[in-house]
Amino acid sequence: MQLSSIEQDSWLQALLHTRTRSPATFEQWFASVGFEGIKDGRLCLVARDEFVRDWVKTHFLPTLLEQLELLLGRPLEVGWTVNPLLSSPICPPRKLGPSSSPSSAPPPSSAASDVDRPRPTSSGAQLRVASVPPPPAFQFNPKYTFENFIVGSSNELAHAAAYACASGGAPRYNPLFITGGTGLGKTHLMHAIAHKVLSMHPNARIVYVSAEHFTNEFIEALQNHRMDEFRARYRTQCDVLLLDDVQFLAGREQTQEEFFHTFNALHDTGVPIILTSDKYPQQLQRMPERLVSRFTSGLVADVQAPGLETRVAILKKKAQIEAIPLSDTVAVLLAQKVHSNVRELEGALIRLAAKASLTGRTLDDEVMQGELALVATASQRLVGLVDIQRVVCSHFRVTNADLMSKDRHKSVAFARQVAMYLCRQRLKSSFPELGRAFGNRDHTTVMSAVRRVESLRKRDPQVNAHLEAIERRLASSEQ
Ligand code: ADP
Ligand code: MG
Repeated sequence: MQLSSIEQDSWLQALLHTRTRSPATFEQWFASVGFEGIKDGRLCLVARDEFVRDWVKTHFLPTLLEQLELLLGRPLEVGWTVNPLLSSPICPPRKLGPSSSPSSAPPPSSAASDVDRPRPTSSGAQLRVASVPPPPAFQFNPKYTFENFIVGSSNELAHAAAYACASGGAPRYNPLFITGGTGLGKTHLMHAIAHKVLSMHPNARIVYVSAEHFTNEFIEALQNHRMDEFRARYRTQCDVLLLDDVQFLAGREQTQEEFFHTFNALHDTGVPIILTSDKYPQQLQRMPERLVSRFTSGLVADVQAPGLETRVAILKKKAQIEAIPLSDTVAVLLAQKVHSNVRELEGALIRLAAKASLTGRTLDDEVMQGELALVATASQRLVGLVDIQRVVCSHFRVTNADLMSKDRHKSVAFARQVAMYLCRQRLKSSFPELGRAFGNRDHTTVMSAVRRVESLRKRDPQVNAHLEAIERRLASSEQ
């Protein structure tokens, strides 16, 4: 079945997403499921038997479908067929130990007790399986390479450090801690490191895992008395560790403890560790000091929202990858409209391109100019820094000059902190940038203001009520 490159890409991304979210059984089940394409709004899947079909339907399909629909921007139906002779499963069947049946389509037998939870196989077989690296296609997005990453001033340090790590020449950057707002390329850089390492060392054991997945695996290992196996996977069978979204470990004390030892074991033996987070290490709440100090012991590099030229270059790159004809004029127009993050930028391009191709138009067409205007209204949701300052001033009845001043009077200071917090949250501006926008303050002042409001919001309903009122006003000014 013919798939467009957007469908192909979305399908791969949705699989990848499902795999990262699901417990370690993804490969097991998807070794008995095939993908036959997307046709007339229908995702066509084939299962080796009804049991597999029903299990995948209940346990994986909701996540997979939700993600796929999100990426494609349209709803899908799902059509299943059953074929015991399934020839090209989504995941290659696992190589199990000699005691296992050679043909083992790994899903556990259909015993009733298996319906709630897949039965763990014997630790011997698991260990052997764990040492077989999962198929790269599902682990690393083939499009998240260094070649496809556009470098600008917003991300050049993170890019250079990631490249150096991947080339094996940067022991002093161990660990590399990449921080930045959502959709700014952190995961892309991690996958790029993996691709590059694999291109030089095809047998490298690269462990890529989100902190959430690490936590789930850890809990599962504890429950099933498989800690030896868990530790082997993370401490001795790992040549590069990529831990995505480390902020997820906040407040998870036992997992933090385990990760602390994992980190030390790897670090002591010189295994590169790359971490990403939406916050700087020092800003991570409920994270023990000893972990924070480990995180900062190598290089901390941030990615920020890209400037206009970088956004245009990213759009052009994306259009080239997806074979979307995109003129310079439209690229600039779109980049001017969407400035929040790269994910939204790409999403806008893909949606426009899909609409254009469905209606047989090009992106330059006059009708498409109308669509572009609609993108504009959506992105106007992003009110600017000045708007936030204005709304906050009016809410707390202070003046803009107060916000910029050195006035430490309680009410003025609080209004200022709230404005900083909202700007950081909504615009993902960097701390130095915000410092400049608030009367040339030091970035550490902004950092502590944001942290203070964040924590007050959680424990003080009155503060939360203020913030909600301001947010409602901002939302109405976005319409
Ligand atoms: P994060 O992990 O920071 O939330 P991702 O790495 O998932 O963000 O990036 C979101 C999307 O934006 C991905 O499709 C990624 O390829 C793209 N992207 C982000 N930054 C860049 C860049 N500098 N060049 C090209 N694509 C980028
Ligand atoms: Mg990410």
